[in-house]
Amino acid sequence: MFKPVHPVKSSLREFNRVNASENFPEMEKKWLKHWYEKGINKKYREKNKNSKKYFSFLDGPITANNPMGVHHAWGRTYKDLWPRFYNLLGYKQRFQNGFDCQGLWVEVEVEKELGLHSKKDIENLIPGDTKASIAKFVQLCKDRVLKFSKIQTEQSKRLGYFADWDHSYFTMSDENNYMIWKFLKKCYEYGWIYKGHESVPWCPRCETAISQHEMLTEDYKELVHQSVYFKLPIIGRENENLLVWTTTPWTIPANIAVAIEATFDYSLVQGNANQKFWVAKELVKMVFKENYKILKTVKGSDLVGLKYTAPFDNLPKVKEVADKNSEKFHIVFATDKNILPITTTEGTGMVHTAVSAGVEDFKMGKKLGLPMIPVIEDNADYMSGLGFLSGKNAKKHPEIILDYLKKDWAFAVVAYKHRYPACWRCKTELVWKVEDEWYIAMDRSPLRSQKSKVKSQKLNTKTLRERMIKVAKKIKWMPEFGLDRELDWLKNMHDWLISKKNRYWGLALPIYECSKCHNFEVIGSKEELKKRTVSGWEEFEGHSPHKPFIDEVKIKCQKCGESISRTNDVGNPWLDAGIVPYSTISKDNHSQPLYIENKEEWKKWFPVDLITESFPGQFKNWFYAMIAESTVLENEPPFKRVLGFGTQLGEDGRPMHKSWGNAIEFSEGADKIGVDVMRWMFTRHNPADNMLFGYKKADEVRRQFYLMLWNTYKFFVEYANLDKFIVGKKNFCSLQNSKNVLDKWILSRFASTALSVEKNLKEFSAKDAALEIEKFVSDLSTWFIRRSRDRVWVNSENVEDKNNFYETLYYILVNLSIIISPFIPFVAEEIYTNLTGKESVNLENWPLINEKLKMKNEKLEGEMNTARKIVEAGQAERKLTGVKVRIPLSNLSVKSEIAANLTVSDEVWDVVLKELNIKNITINNDFHYPKKEVKVTEKQLQKEGRLRELIREIQSQRKLKGLKTDEKINLTIPKEFESETESIGKRVLAKNIRFGDKVEVQ
Ligand SMILES: [Zn+2]
Ligand SMILES: [Zn+2]
Repeated sequence: MFKPVHPVKSSLREFNRVNASENFPEMEKKWLKHWYEKGINKKYREKNKNSKKYFSFLDGPITANNPMGVHHAWGRTYKDLWPRFYNLLGYKQRFQNGFDCQGLWVEVEVEKELGLHSKKDIENLIPGDTKASIAKFVQLCKDRVLKFSKIQTEQSKRLGYFADWDHSYFTMSDENNYMIWKFLKKCYEYGWIYKGHESVPWCPRCETAISQHEMLTEDYKELVHQSVYFKLPIIGRENENLLVWTTTPWTIPANIAVAIEATFDYSLVQGNANQKFWVAKELVKMVFKENYKILKTVKGSDLVGLKYTAPFDNLPKVKEVADKNSEKFHIVFATDKNILPITTTEGTGMVHTAVSAGVEDFKMGKKLGLPMIPVIEDNADYMSGLGFLSGKNAKKHPEIILDYLKKDWAFAVVAYKHRYPACWRCKTELVWKVEDEWYIAMDRSPLRSQKSKVKSQKLNTKTLRERMIKVAKKIKWMPEFGLDRELDWLKNMHDWLISKKNRYWGLALPIYECSKCHNFEVIGSKEELKKRTVSGWEEFEGHSPHKPFIDEVKIKCQKCGESISRTNDVGNPWLDAGIVPYSTISKDNHSQPLYIENKEEWKKWFPVDLITESFPGQFKNWFYAMIAESTVLENEPPFKRVLGFGTQLGEDGRPMHKSWGNAIEFSEGADKIGVDVMRWMFTRHNPADNMLFGYKKADEVRRQFYLMLWNTYKFFVEYANLDKFIVGKKNFCSLQNSKNVLDKWILSRFASTALSVEKNLKEFSAKDAALEIEKFVSDLSTWFIRRSRDRVWVNSENVEDKNNFYETLYYILVNLSIIISPFIPFVAEEIYTNLTGKESVNLENWPLINEKLKMKNEKLEGEMNTARKIVEAGQAERKLTGVKVRIPLSNLSVKSEIAANLTVSDEVWDVVLKELNIKNITINNDFHYPKKEVKVTEKQLQKEGRLRELIREIQSQRKLKGLKTDEKINLTIPKEFESETESIGKRVLAKNIRFGDKVEVQ
């Protein structure tokens, strides 16, 4: 019988049995519990605390407003992968996660929870007490953030994400808010902050401006609105009308003028009922279809200066403006292409211009000095002074305008489908309205700072836009198109609208404007505010810098001495996330920012090495805000590299939606799929492409990779235990002493894989690294193990070879578990701890390259590659001729594209013969192996085949009867195998062998 490799010692340690049908989500939970109970997470974070090498990763804050979806897990897997990798490599890190807290997204959810519908409701939360109501509302927003940050923290832990969970940063923190003040103060000193009076996109439900940054393509909806063609009778020309088309009829009361393109031809068309209409010539047919007559055609410039009457001229507010501006009211003007281009693809070539209700309209009005008629309140109700319209909602009731027009003014009302912007938060359709808002100028040269005393110091006269473009170019964008996208935005964006009117939960913009002399100032810190306070500090003291308490503080106007208040507005929420490279880096993740306390130390972490976020939206948002704030504060890129990734879709290719049944909540996904498999799906995916995600895809990955890895590990543990293998003290040099070509080959493959994974991860390509690992695991399972089955347990008596096999596979599995731990930490931990008996794979170091280089044998890898291709060709040949692999052949002749490579060594050729179950091989009729033909008789071959069949039959019966691998059996076999009794007995573990007609296992 087989003797153990090593004498049994007291140190002999059996590996824990490996379950073939392991419940992986349960296994993951077991490790989670262990990691947090035994402080593994903490030991992991402290492993390199004295290292001189720094890896600075900055987490883009997740909005703490809802539980995580599986799409969040994609980015968070990257956010864990590289810190884990650099931890193995011995780098010191901060491991800080962040939560985004302030802004509309939270307010809207709290409003929903409380059933509030408007600003009035919020301010009356505690009836009759506005201040207390706001205080309560703000507190509820804070509470919501804390609630969901806790949930997201638990979910992130479940994902296997190792971070300093007790010290995540929150953008609502004092440090974060005051750091934004510092930034705004600097903008102010440069002269870049101004109050603009502009037409802005506006959400009538949230009653606040929506900045250009917040209008993402995904927030445009395909909508059908009633568009209207309406006539404007020309004064002094009988029966002649301008024919104008608009898709926003609610703005018609605000009409001031009609724009035409001076270079176009316009025709006067005879309609029915004696009415004549001016329309761009090219559009006549489109508008009138048939039965029309062109009376005359002139250049657009000939129409300039005409005046007209309009449908709402009788309303008091309209009359008032008309009376005050008779020169510039209801006139035809020639457009400026750069502001308001007119096309002949739709409409009439005559454009309704409502100066108060459109961005281009407003700009045109400004250029021409046109008056305007504000028509809607903050909630889109028509203002007073608009007669029958007043108090009715312009967006909710478009019919009031249409019904009125239909009486006498409408030429046609046509349903029109177009892409229309909606509020990114509450999805309400936007309107346009003219408001005073605060902006950061993109195109102003900086004022000479009052502080710059050194006269010789060269002043950087570049504008913020120019500086930001320069800074953006210093960043490594992955994928590369990221830079173009960012530059496209930087080159075309308007000034940054940073204020939000009528909102409560957000940055208190530190802008103090004097109501008397209109001078304004920006305060740059809490200390400065305290120094400047003339009243209200006691009421504020002890509170965070939020509404309503911050607004108790009054300061003195530096110009006129008036006591002045903070502007009522809160800040754009992207200011909050944009400042985090400055506000969150501290010595222990919870002290004061190093940027203020110790700038030298801060510079060790700044610019950060890596950020990684989903691309859509971030060019206008987080990336933009960080670049803007960092450019102002230090004129430096805030990050060296950004790894962007696409959007996650359902596996049906559609966006994930609850109502479509293809959305997966994170916790549900984790319990059904297991997070290792999920993480593997994310890391093996090309981040530049959108990802299809769902349970079917998860099953594929589990089968094709994860289970293959698991079964390899299981094979090792099962047979090593049976063979009573003891982990030796072999180092890698002695590993290479194995004479078995398979051992040499797989060690070389492992070395190549480890090197390649390291290289790819250092280049931030998780996908290439993951695919290398997949290839290796496949080689390990489908070639190394497959070809080594005869080397283990009862199949072989070659003790040395057996031991070499275990030593090799042991070395590989232990080191593989380290390499895969950043990707799939749970199964890595399971394998590592079971095989080594050590505490945790998370406390390991990356396998050393030098040792691996010695194992690398490119020539052998090449030979084995050739061999495997020949095997493939051989198997194809067998398939073609219908001769199964278990039937031995004396010679197999194959055709292969590969010219028989004579440099392939004999030992590799032997592997080919065994795999193909042949004695001789001939390739392309000119290569023979072995050179001297091995002669076998037909009888011998047949017997070999039958013997193989017999063993197969016995093993399958063992399996059917559910016998353990080491359980002995009573066996009945046909008499013809009498001479093989002993070897059969050993291989199938029989204690008794009898002869009979049928094979029987008992
Ligand atoms: Zn809204
Ligand atoms: Zn003043």
